[in-house]
Amino acid sequence: MDKGEFFALYQPQLSVDGLRVVSAEALLRWSRPGIGTIGPDDFVPFAEDNKLIDELGSFMLERACETAAHWGDLPVSINVSPLQFARVDLAAYILTIAAKAGLPPGRLEIEITETAPIGDIAAVRATIAELRAQGVRVSLDDLGAGHATTCLMRELPLDRVKLGKSMADDAMTEKGAEHVSNLIQQARDFGLAVTAEGVETQAQLDFMRSCGCDRIQGYIFAKPMSGAEISAFARQFAG
Ligand code: C2E
Ligand code: CA
Repeated sequence: MDKGEFFALYQPQLSVDGLRVVSAEALLRWSRPGIGTIGPDDFVPFAEDNKLIDELGSFMLERACETAAHWGDLPVSINVSPLQFARVDLAAYILTIAAKAGLPPGRLEIEITETAPIGDIAAVRATIAELRAQGVRVSLDDLGAGHATTCLMRELPLDRVKLGKSMADDAMTEKGAEHVSNLIQQARDFGLAVTAEGVETQAQLDFMRSCGCDRIQGYIFAKPMSGAEISAFARQFAG
């Protein structure tokens, strides 16, 4: 993997009323000469299997913090694989990268992806606590799919959970609607805020709002865009 071939796009996350951009998620892309741009679902699992995820994770942390430092007050959300938590000094490492980029910890959000099982839960809990003590907010990604179970909502000191796109789709079926609504209620009972991801239609948006989600990320508002476009996009909402 040549690091020069990787870049980040950023997708706005909006308040549920669609009136404010509240954060933007950094999403990794791989531009392969002669092939085109490849999405992370096609190479992150490979990177996780081959111990390359730490290198990619560091690249994204540096790039996203440097980019977001120029966004005024807007926070950036960065995906961190559970495998990166094997690093005992992960919290200090993340805080150092943010400081070097000039990004205050209060403008940094970490999304723990569910692409691999969470290993040593006590160690992950300690890392999250250390980050949160400095003002970094921590979300559990893709709730309702894969390894992220409701158990983790209880066991980890989180700020927020994110519902994956499959939940926005499931919510539009009679059986799925009840399941998704229960999942959101459960998160709120744990005191967690809820982001709905992959929201594409007004019906999905209305459902997520009625269930108490406070943030929306989805094509209904915006697709991933460059770091420079994010600044302009967020300014439109500020005015
Ligand atoms: P994720 O964290 O759940 O990110 C959201 C994914 O849903 C993104 O796909 C985004 O482009 C897509 N999405 C958002 N809204 C919509 C919508 O309305 N409709 C549809 N069809 N898709 C929508 P993307 O960029 O392909 O990322 C896929 C996954 O790759 C991410 O899922 C995340 O788990 C992982 N990933 C991305 N960047 C990184 C990274 O820097 N590090 C790690 N470890 N994983 C990453
Ligand atoms: Ca994510």
